[in-house]
Amino acid sequence: NMSTNKTRDIDYQIHSQADLRFHESTGSIVMTKGDGIYVIDEQGNRYIEGMAGLWCTGLGFSEPRLAQAAYDQMMTLPQYHTFGNKAHNKCIDLAEKLVQVMPTCGKSPLNKVYFGSGGGDSNDTAIKIIWNYFNAIGKPEKKKLIGRVRGYHGSTVVTTSIGAQPGMHQPFDCPYGDRFVHTNVPHHYTFGKDGETEEDFATRMADDLEKLILAEGPDTVAAMFAEPLQGAGGVVIPPATYWEKMQTVLEKYNVMLVSDEVITGFARTGNMWGCETYGMRPDLLTCAKQLSSGYLPISAVVVGQHVYDAIADFSQKNGVFGHGYTYSGHPVSAAVALETIQIYEERDIVNSVRALSVPFVNGLTDLLDHPLVGEARGVGLVGVVQLIADKETKKAFHPSVKAGMKVFTACEEHGLIPRVTPPGDRLAFCPPMIITEEEIKDMLGRFRKALDSVEPALRA
Ligand code: PLP
Repeated sequence: NMSTNKTRDIDYQIHSQADLRFHESTGSIVMTKGDGIYVIDEQGNRYIEGMAGLWCTGLGFSEPRLAQAAYDQMMTLPQYHTFGNKAHNKCIDLAEKLVQVMPTCGKSPLNKVYFGSGGGDSNDTAIKIIWNYFNAIGKPEKKKLIGRVRGYHGSTVVTTSIGAQPGMHQPFDCPYGDRFVHTNVPHHYTFGKDGETEEDFATRMADDLEKLILAEGPDTVAAMFAEPLQGAGGVVIPPATYWEKMQTVLEKYNVMLVSDEVITGFARTGNMWGCETYGMRPDLLTCAKQLSSGYLPISAVVVGQHVYDAIADFSQKNGVFGHGYTYSGHPVSAAVALETIQIYEERDIVNSVRALSVPFVNGLTDLLDHPLVGEARGVGLVGVVQLIADKETKKAFHPSVKAGMKVFTACEEHGLIPRVTPPGDRLAFCPPMIITEEEIKDMLGRFRKALDSVEPALRA
């Protein structure tokens, strides 16, 4: 009974990222089952999960091998930890496997892994590692961290401070403290000046970064956190030459680069890692989500030997590496992650995503003929459609129109779940990577129907 569940849901739960009062009036869509790329609600409606849940179920919603891996581990060693001198086989195997699949574009081979339970806590860990590192090499004044407007690195206080998501930042008085500074969102479609090429725009972004570092004082800036493409901030695909230019500036001032691969990791952009797609040279890499196909919580920070050596020396002086989560390297999560990577390898997920990317990106681009679509862009199996009030002038819909939410609701009515992203009129797609070409057509076909159905209301 839908209404019973609706009441129970709202009586007892606080939802994430919701207008809670509005939600009280609408209730929830209560999911009861997953099937491949579909989720099914308690009334039996099937939805294409166009976002793989929250950018995470790469293998879809019914992979029996992951369930089996979890069961087997539960029956063997359901819980253990990695504090002090303790370890267990699954986290040892997973660390080794992760190192094997690390990108080779880092400044030095990424070969030491620290596990956590989610993307946000892995970024928190990365920060402590960075601060430890600069202490260890005698530059303790290097503490500031650069994030980007509309970047997203998690919901902990510190990661909320590095990110700058509208609506997530200010209500909690973030950025907390004076260690967090922000540079621009590199969105050429919206912020490129008249006649400015992507390359020129990228130069301007890099110049702005340099100005920021100089204004803050290069000796005080430790690292930049960046998603290869900004996901939750609106699937902002970096303009041509952006990363090349940005990291030249970072390297000039000895500012580390953290590639936050929580969304882009594990083939999502058509390479195993987003930093490979964009030629980034990270010092640290963080990942989560598709690491276990989202089936169980697990995340990782991976660093190079020079970073590890510095923090190891520092921990020796300090007496301990003063950091640790109960669930670091949780055996059941680790077993599922190991099986997930095994499946990615067996199914050659990178080449499979590259092949599927052709109909996916072409299908998105085809939507550009729709009067409501201003920008439509994708890479690998992640993409975005920006709604626009006037294509010629690029005039956006007024926020009070709630264009994104209206299209989103229409999508749900057509059995499709995309995601509304900032600034409120960008609809993101990040389907399970097991999607077929036919299903991609179906997904984007449903989206077009949803656009058609709301157009009259948006124009009214
Ligand atoms: N980093 C990025 C790029 C993300 O997209 C997310 C979540 O969407 C996070 C970090 C935070 O991950 P979690 O929600 O697992 O803490």
